[in-house]
Amino acid sequence: MVAERYHEIQKRVEAACARAGRRTSDVTLIAVSKTKPVEMLKEAYAAGARDFGENKVQEILEKSPALPEDIRWHMIGHLQTNKVRQTVGRACLIHSVDSVKLAREIEKEAAKHNMQMPVLLEVNVAKEESKFGFYLEDTEAALREIAAFPHVNIQGLMTIAPFVENPEENRQIFRELYQFFIDIKSKNVDNVNMNVLSMGMTGDFEVAIEEGATMVRVGTGIFGERQIRENI
Ligand SMILES: *Cc1c(COP(=O)(O)O)cnc(C)c1O
Repeated sequence: MVAERYHEIQKRVEAACARAGRRTSDVTLIAVSKTKPVEMLKEAYAAGARDFGENKVQEILEKSPALPEDIRWHMIGHLQTNKVRQTVGRACLIHSVDSVKLAREIEKEAAKHNMQMPVLLEVNVAKEESKFGFYLEDTEAALREIAAFPHVNIQGLMTIAPFVENPEENRQIFRELYQFFIDIKSKNVDNVNMNVLSMGMTGDFEVAIEEGATMVRVGTGIFGERQIRENI
């Protein structure tokens, strides 16, 4: 079941890339496995998934020992500063840097490991009160501050678009973030590589790809509905 769904989503990713005149290899499909058991992750792995997304570091710690080592674990959920220690060095990419304070904690921890931690800045494009992330107009200043941390490597931006019935309603949001992404990229800020644009979920990943996403985070579409209605 998981394998069929994974292949189906992959096909839709490919079709969206074709419509947008983009290469399939430009878009990474992240299988969002939060709340799902290891058995289901194994099925996705067997179907070809190598990038998995979790919103709690605890789940990465619990699941990863039972799974192959070549899996790339993406931290996509809001990260509390007291969880940074467990996350740095385990996640390949933290998508959810939403404050300078959090980035500073990551800096400290990455320095201890003598590594550079790849991160994305989360942007709350629609200014939803229920969501984390920088407002678009505050993002450049925050990015410049965080870029000064030598052990934090900003690789791009992430957004969680509003929950909508019709994905077309989010097209403008994705477009705005893409414009900003291109704008920042052209400024060539030291210690910043604007290469990753993480946007699009089960309900709207095709529109996100058409508007420039390089990573899409798909949970329900691959693993089915979640029992727990978690905060994202
Ligand atoms: C849960 C989650 C997703 C996946 O959502 P689906 O609608 O199930 O595809 C994507 N991104 C983040 C940050 C999430 O927390």
